[in-house]
Amino acid sequence: CIRDRENNRLYEISVSDGLTNLYNRRYLEQRLSKELSYAKRFRKPLTVLMTDIDFFKKVNDTYGHQAGDHALRKVSEILTEELREYDVVARYGGEEFAIMLLATPRSRGASTAERLRRSVEQAEITFRGQNIPVTLSIGVASFPEDADESDALVGLADKALYRAKRNGRNCVEVE
Ligand code: GH3
Ligand code: MG
Ligand code: MG
Repeated sequence: CIRDRENNRLYEISVSDGLTNLYNRRYLEQRLSKELSYAKRFRKPLTVLMTDIDFFKKVNDTYGHQAGDHALRKVSEILTEELREYDVVARYGGEEFAIMLLATPRSRGASTAERLRRSVEQAEITFRGQNIPVTLSIGVASFPEDADESDALVGLADKALYRAKRNGRNCVEVE
């Protein structure tokens, strides 16, 4: 009925990001806690990727804010297309994404991160005829190897991300 459809729509709005249509940070954090309790109970691994677009301020300054928005949408599409239906991709902040890879140990999470990094590097993102070069830095942390609590896992993935930034960007660092 109409009421159900309206409630579904309101729910979708509350968990998603308007620009990219990805999940938002709040949804990711709530879902990660739940998936971690499942992972602990059934001894399944889980990997978190934190990723941030390199020198994105320069993209906006060089090509304009609309081009920046376009690049954010394109990167979101690439991440979603490259991953599995049941993986969770969220816009965590401005040009920062958090990804939850279910049933994925650290080794496979790291190779997935490397695949995502390469896909974005090789993508031809164009806006009004101009090519916009975009690269990602990615940090990887996993349950059970690195942490068993959601804040700690996100924190460690973020720490690895900043190491990737310090090591020259456009690279993957594992906790
Ligand atoms: P780094 O490689 O260290 O991450 O450098 P950076 O320039 O990406 O990092 P910084 O945090 O200095 O800049 C992030 C930029 O992202 C600044 C902000 O204007 C831009 N940004 C954040 N959200 C949006 C958005 O929704 N649209 C657009 N076009 N730009 C955004
Ligand atoms: Mg950035
Ligand atoms: Mg950032």
